[in-house]
Amino acid sequence: MTQEDVFKKLVAHCKEYGFVFPSSEIYDGLGAVYDYGQNGVELKNNIKRYWWDSMTMLHENVVGIDAAIFMHPTTWKASGHVDAFNDPLIDNRDSKKRYRADVLIEDLMAKYDEKIEKEVQKAAKRFGDSFDEAMFRQTNPRVLEHQAKRDEIHARYAKAMNENDLPGLKAIIMDYDVVDPISGTKNWTDVRQFNLMFSTEMGSTADGAMKIYLRPETAQGIFVNYLNVQKTGRMKIPFGIAQIGKAFRNEIVARQFIFRMREFEQMEMQFFVRPGDEMKWFAYWKEHRLAWHKALGLGDHKYRFHDHDKLAHYANAATDIEFEMPFGFKEVEGIHSRTDFDLSSHEKYSGKNIKYFDPELNQSYTPYVIETSIGVDRMFLSIMSAAYCEEQLEGGDSRVVLKLPPVLAPVKAAILPLVKKDGLPEKAREIMDALKFDFRCVYDEKDSIGKRYRRQDAVGTPFCITVDHDTLTDGCVTIRHRDTMQQERVSIEALHDLIDQEVNMKNLFKKIMGQV
Ligand code: ATP
Repeated sequence: MTQEDVFKKLVAHCKEYGFVFPSSEIYDGLGAVYDYGQNGVELKNNIKRYWWDSMTMLHENVVGIDAAIFMHPTTWKASGHVDAFNDPLIDNRDSKKRYRADVLIEDLMAKYDEKIEKEVQKAAKRFGDSFDEAMFRQTNPRVLEHQAKRDEIHARYAKAMNENDLPGLKAIIMDYDVVDPISGTKNWTDVRQFNLMFSTEMGSTADGAMKIYLRPETAQGIFVNYLNVQKTGRMKIPFGIAQIGKAFRNEIVARQFIFRMREFEQMEMQFFVRPGDEMKWFAYWKEHRLAWHKALGLGDHKYRFHDHDKLAHYANAATDIEFEMPFGFKEVEGIHSRTDFDLSSHEKYSGKNIKYFDPELNQSYTPYVIETSIGVDRMFLSIMSAAYCEEQLEGGDSRVVLKLPPVLAPVKAAILPLVKKDGLPEKAREIMDALKFDFRCVYDEKDSIGKRYRRQDAVGTPFCITVDHDTLTDGCVTIRHRDTMQQERVSIEALHDLIDQEVNMKNLFKKIMGQV
């Protein structure tokens, strides 16, 4: 099965099992807007809690806020979004489809990467154990040729992006024969800039309505409040402010399901530091954030850092944490050293003094900022794609199982009476009533036990607890582990601790703190 097929199946699975639905589906949906269903919302809330608690509980000097989505319009002038939050877009005259020129070029470079990987894989197969991969990459003429092409494109791309050279971007597309995947032609328009902010009006037109924007990032709500929090919370630099909330971008090319949405959710933390200390903290947060991801156990090889070639107008260092999605390594989180750009700019536009007085240095300054910014929905997608598994079982049977990290699974345990009679449902309810204060549990008595196991596998429930006739006399149940399908007999009293050991976030937090 190709990765594309796996992805299609994952999207279908998300819908079939109540994780993600297209928005307003009865009206045929709305482009790049999605709703989370009964299981999706639980997974999403668990992701948010994992992030929020790791930020605000593991760090004494990080606190949270919840700012409004609407902000004074000057905020977006000061932040640079009115003038510079643009994507370079290009249209194909034949298909009438619109693309991001930078994405077309990045896809082109990825094609060369793929070609190189194919050569390496072919050679690895041919040479077997004696294969020296590093040597092959350095000497094989075909690999070198692809690499040279890729480097050439990369150099032109980085230059054009840095210099805002739109004809330069188009020239790359034309010179390397990039064709529209739909029409197959090179009939491209010129590249133009397109602002990604949604705007609306506040107040009635009669009173002179004010044009306001739906925030394209949550960060600015933190910047304009940093002094409020610092003063009321008596925070000392270095300190951080965390926030989870919706953001909106009128993405030109919205595709790949919940990877690129027009309405999405961000988890952002701005960490305020002394000028000059920013690189130390940039390194700290890079490491800490990667440890947070890795603690989930989805596979360390699925993550990599990608340092930026083109720095945003506000940054002096930036990296992405990329995750291996079914469609390649993609950004899930950005870590940026934003200098004092935002705070200085708000100071200038508002005319208010928002400097921090540092009692240790006995001096006032504008703090520098390290930002960690992760999309909840992208995180959701990365977890679902790593978890989705189709397994062939002995006896020709197969199953679809979501191997979700147990701490994030929507439901922790399913309580299943073997039959619907003989007092088993009552006993099962009793167990459920004892466990439900600590864990999200479901009760299911419909269909054969095998079918019920499959239903729980498909939504990623780590434990199935079966109550049978013996339970009534020996006080024991069968607990089935989702990933191994192994079953063991345990006493009802042991259930709480057994489940807790696997689903308690505390264990992940300890792992993170052990690493950084
Ligand atoms: P991209 O290059 O993919 O457009 P970006 O670099 O503009 O992303 P940031 O502005 O750094 O993204 O936003 C921080 C995080 O917010 C991203 O790492 C991503 O997880 C998430 N994010 C950004 N745009 C979207 C979107 N349209 N849909 C879903 N998540 C998004």
